[in-house]
Amino acid sequence: GASHAHAYLDGLNAEQRAAVEALDGPVLVLAGAGTGKTRVLTTRLAHLVDTGRARPWQILAVTFTNKAAREMRERVGRLIGAEESGLWFGTFHSLCARILRRHAELVGLTSTFTILDTDDQVRLAKQVIQAAGVDEKRWPPKVLVGAIQRWKDKGWQPGQVPGAEAHEVARGRGADLYAAYQKRLKELNAADFGDLLMECIRLFREHPDVLADWQRRFRYILVDEYQDTNVAQYLWLRLLAQAHHNICCVGDDDQSIYSWRGAEVGNILRFEKDFPEATVIRLERNYRSTGHILAAAGAVIANNEERLGKTLWTDDGEGEKVRVQGCWDGDEEARFVSDVIEHLRAQGMSLSDMAVLVRAGHQTRAFEDRFVTIGMPYRVVGGLRFFERAEVRDALAYMRLIITPADDLAFERVVNVPKRGLGDTSVQAVAVAARAAGLPMLVAAADPVVVGGLRPKARAALADFTRMIAGWREALSHEPHGEVVRQMLDESGLTGMWQTEKTPEAQGRLDNLKELVRTVEEFDSLPAFLEHVSLVMDTDTRAGEDMVSIMTLHGAKGLEFDTVFLPGWEEGVFPHERALEESGRDGLEEERRLAYVGITRARRRAVISFAANRRVYNQWLSAVPSRFVEELPAEHVELSGQTGVYGGNRAAGWQPAGRRADPYAQTSPYAQTEVYDRATRLADDVTARTIDGTAVRVERGGMSVAPRRPGPASG
Ligand code: ATP
Ligand code: MG
Repeated sequence: GASHAHAYLDGLNAEQRAAVEALDGPVLVLAGAGTGKTRVLTTRLAHLVDTGRARPWQILAVTFTNKAAREMRERVGRLIGAEESGLWFGTFHSLCARILRRHAELVGLTSTFTILDTDDQVRLAKQVIQAAGVDEKRWPPKVLVGAIQRWKDKGWQPGQVPGAEAHEVARGRGADLYAAYQKRLKELNAADFGDLLMECIRLFREHPDVLADWQRRFRYILVDEYQDTNVAQYLWLRLLAQAHHNICCVGDDDQSIYSWRGAEVGNILRFEKDFPEATVIRLERNYRSTGHILAAAGAVIANNEERLGKTLWTDDGEGEKVRVQGCWDGDEEARFVSDVIEHLRAQGMSLSDMAVLVRAGHQTRAFEDRFVTIGMPYRVVGGLRFFERAEVRDALAYMRLIITPADDLAFERVVNVPKRGLGDTSVQAVAVAARAAGLPMLVAAADPVVVGGLRPKARAALADFTRMIAGWREALSHEPHGEVVRQMLDESGLTGMWQTEKTPEAQGRLDNLKELVRTVEEFDSLPAFLEHVSLVMDTDTRAGEDMVSIMTLHGAKGLEFDTVFLPGWEEGVFPHERALEESGRDGLEEERRLAYVGITRARRRAVISFAANRRVYNQWLSAVPSRFVEELPAEHVELSGQTGVYGGNRAAGWQPAGRRADPYAQTSPYAQTEVYDRATRLADDVTARTIDGTAVRVERGGMSVAPRRPGPASG
């Protein structure tokens, strides 16, 4: 029967198999963490190809991060071999960029359009705000960028922003500024991240023939992490699936953690409405984690009210209890984590099976410091870390100018880097003249007729600069692009600039530039490389080396590790103070979903820790363990800690799971060390008790000063 022909089906359980074999029509798989949703998706993909329903290039598969795309590509590669190369596999953004480049002229761009990063967006918003005569102090460019992003996430063009929304920005001029911003983007031949989707949707809507082509091409659509799609992404999917309805989405409402980016769990309900014939499949068996881990995660998420609700079970045995460690301070916490890692490594476990998952990016530093100190190989996954460094960004701006002369933002960034004696006035003069003549700045700068009235020195500097760019562009036609980039770094003076600088960082920057050239050479062409840079989320992977991963909880979605460290489980850190302040209970529930995501990344071992003291701006502040710690059921948790805090709690009959009624309950020794309770954190300003009973004042959003204890308490 089928199982012999398709061996990859054999390992699936009945529900998974049903989800894989329901090839035609809409399918929605709603299931908890580790139940094999992603596995269903990859197997389904293999099955589509294997049964001849579709060729690889007729399948569109959407993942949430580039890292997830890579992992899925590997999984699929194992299932169907070399054929995976033709797949349309990637994030919404990368897929949209790919489609847009083919039809760029239909939306007022050319195929070499630039994808702007956040810095560029802010610079552009600033220009727009200034040009409109809006008070920049009252309406900072960042605010406008945020609003535009939000509107794009909802799928609104400038004309579609509802009055009430538009009125919240720049006294009702929000929509006008948005329109001006879009116009300027077109002039620059550029798109921001939100545009990739918006322009693709506009393309589909305004050119039904183009849409029809893509609908015919993508016979099957697969979407992972569906709970985190925003409205624009949903609209895009619906347009593509409209003709055939062959769309399969998998997701978990308990793992929805991107509402701040406009993601809407409502899309799950909308799916069932838009595709009423949808097959809805639920998976309940978890294959990833042991019993204690699963039970602990389940107990935490059970505190959320807004849930569709589901059960999970595992056949895997109880395993180790979730370890909860109280530490004296952040340094001790980092030491503790590295000790456990070394211990596990000594037992033969590989570092790549371990991850430290933090709530906020800044938390990585303590672990990075510790790992560097003891020589523990690690990588920080996620963020644009490497490509965000200034020296790298300068080099990238040069490359962008070589490929896209119209990239005025790149021009402004590097025309005087390294310093060529071009003041702001000269650059302004070029900008004004270029705009008047309707030319890119790079082109205008080369023309003394267009830009008049410059001093000879500035004139010569501009001439040199434009000649260099033109020279490298010309060189690209007959030399390897890596070689051209190397020349560019030398001839532009970028390398020299760091060679002459005698700071400790300068060598690191030179190393980064070398690494940059190495990366460029991995790509077929310079445009392909720049495309990669624009889209890539996580870059610091040196393949093959055994390393501990450090990443944010958001970045860890969909991944799994044998051992997961979850540090910083303190009120204000996690749940994050701002999430609570800005979105109240919704914010708290989203933080709790994040806790659920964190714990469920673990296959065998979850290690949660918190510190009793944190150093913030040279002050010692005492911290309160996260409410999520208390929501962990005692029977699935193993408490330990040198501070004795937790042991004390247990000895005193500490009751986990469930919030204490009296925020200052003295039953727990820990409560006595609290400066203020989480409940009062949300109040505007409150008075709370310290260890010795004296009252301190706590300001809104701020931290109170706690007396530094002499050393780790015993027992
Ligand atoms: P998440 O919600 O975290 O994204 P998921 O539902 O996508 O999780 P997967 O990552 O697909 O879950 O699967 C979790 C783990 O369980 C993986 O290691 C996967 O290989 C394994 N697994 C899934 N289904 C089975 C099965 N039928 N037999 C054995 N292992 C399985
Ligand atoms: Mg998954």
